[in-house]
Amino acid sequence: MNNKKRGTLVLYTGSSGVGKGTIMQRLLELNPNIRLSVSNTTRSPREGEIDGVHYNFVTEEQFKSLIPDDGYLEYAKYCDHYYGTPKKPVEEMIDNGYDVFLEIEVCGGLQVMEKYPDILSIFILPPSMDVLEKRLRKRGTEDEETIKKRLEQAKHEISFKDKYRYNVINGELDKAVDEVLEILRKEKSNT
Ligand code: 5GP
Repeated sequence: MNNKKRGTLVLYTGSSGVGKGTIMQRLLELNPNIRLSVSNTTRSPREGEIDGVHYNFVTEEQFKSLIPDDGYLEYAKYCDHYYGTPKKPVEEMIDNGYDVFLEIEVCGGLQVMEKYPDILSIFILPPSMDVLEKRLRKRGTEDEETIKKRLEQAKHEISFKDKYRYNVINGELDKAVDEVLEILRKEKSNT
């Protein structure tokens, strides 16, 4: 039997371009007990993304093969592609005492909240919609149509922010990172 204290599952959502990936990278560097769940996705890798690290890049057929066996903690279609959280690795990491972040969009987030009503949930917000648009353009990885789609999606996603227990504004990166770490610390001291 595993006597280790179980880790905390964290639902971590933010609209596209809000900088949640950058915050996540810092969290992983600063707190060795944090792990990020690696999702399956049917979208193509962006430049610099590594299969098995940033995502497991799979075909639609491979993606769907896990659905009948209840292999996903949640999954959703987002901007024409499937994204899903494989269940087994997350459960193993939690059992081994790690705090596991699910960096997922709102549809998947709502599914996770239904399964785990008490989950620690954090929504990352941009300081304003103007700032978000600038960040999306600066990234330069998407064409105009995709940027427009993602901005519309962002507005829709932000309308769900109050369903999350914590909202963190990513104005200054260091401050946002500290805030997330403090939320996690507080949560763990209460359990
Ligand atoms: P991107 O294509 O920019 O990497 O991700 C698009 C959106 O899908 C982001 O909001 C990201 O957090 C979300 N996402 C990534 N992995 C998953 C997942 O496993 N499930 C769900 N529901 N969303 C995910």
